[in-house]
Amino acid sequence: MLQPIRSLPVADLQQWLAKHHQPNFRAAQIMDWVYEKLAVSPEEMSNLPKELRQDLARDFDFCTTVPVETKRDDDDAVKWLLKLHDGNTIESVLIRAPGRTTACISTQVGCAVRCVFCATGRQGFVRNLSPAEIIDQVVVASREHGRRVGNVVVMGMGEPLYNFDHLNLALDTLCSPAGLGLSARQVTVSTSGIPQGIRRLADQHRPWNLAVSLHAPTDELRARLIPSRHRHRLADILAACEYYRSATNRMVTLEYVLIKDINDSLEQAAKLASIAKQIQAKVNLIPCNSPDGSFAPPERGDCERFLNVLVNRRVQATIRRRKGFAIQAACGQLRQQTDSPAVKPPEP
Ligand code: SF4
Repeated sequence: MLQPIRSLPVADLQQWLAKHHQPNFRAAQIMDWVYEKLAVSPEEMSNLPKELRQDLARDFDFCTTVPVETKRDDDDAVKWLLKLHDGNTIESVLIRAPGRTTACISTQVGCAVRCVFCATGRQGFVRNLSPAEIIDQVVVASREHGRRVGNVVVMGMGEPLYNFDHLNLALDTLCSPAGLGLSARQVTVSTSGIPQGIRRLADQHRPWNLAVSLHAPTDELRARLIPSRHRHRLADILAACEYYRSATNRMVTLEYVLIKDINDSLEQAAKLASIAKQIQAKVNLIPCNSPDGSFAPPERGDCERFLNVLVNRRVQATIRRRKGFAIQAACGQLRQQTDSPAVKPPEP
């Protein structure tokens, strides 16, 4: 396996250049191609000598996530099936909205958490992505956009906080001026609610946005939606969220997938409102995108009524527009291209 260029420290590149009898300034040229011009092959590096380009191609991997299928949706979502060096595949998505372009990226092949409404969860866990595999998804999306994307949401396949070290390294490169140069405030890490991981993330003291997928206002209901040992007690998750807010001074977002007749009652909305107020969080309501129709979103009017309960209790809340549904690029629909058995919805 070749060394991924986007996880190579500049000092190591300089050493490699010296070994190949190349001047030191070539390192800056190569980094400019890799991070500014978003090159995915040395062939694109037109100001480098041909022999150097050949040596680079022999020793380094310039894109660890190779698009093998691209789907485009009318409402400006683009989804890629990306092939990794070992033949595994992941998906990532570019979402365009007026004045805002966002790459939604994955951190694992599959996911161990197994939320019942999620296509990724049905696959189970396969492996963690490397830092370069996380970064290169942003490069693929940025090339499509024509320049670096404005925002990155770590909300694709996998539980990011179960791949903490690689995520952290990748975010460092994404947010470094010598890397892709995103501001930490343009990055959102979304977790299913891993208290230890949330505290570790807070301890990095970077103002990344944190989104926590709550999906239910009680432990009992959460147990039906996340029926695995990776589910944690609400009280522990909320304490970790408060820790995050006080360590980073950033408001946490609670993500809540709205599922018809399961978690969409007005009473549940009131409970969610008190949780949000308790930890001073915003709420993002996401009408369910069931991969196989086993779960349905509430009617639009019911979503609005749920939202109004939150807003009337002075909770900052929004309903997320469903983007990319037609190409299975919406939240909860990403998966490796394998067939997996459907999971029955929990009993109400
Ligand atoms: S929703 Fe997120 S945490 Fe849950 S199974 Fe899917 S990828 Fe994993």
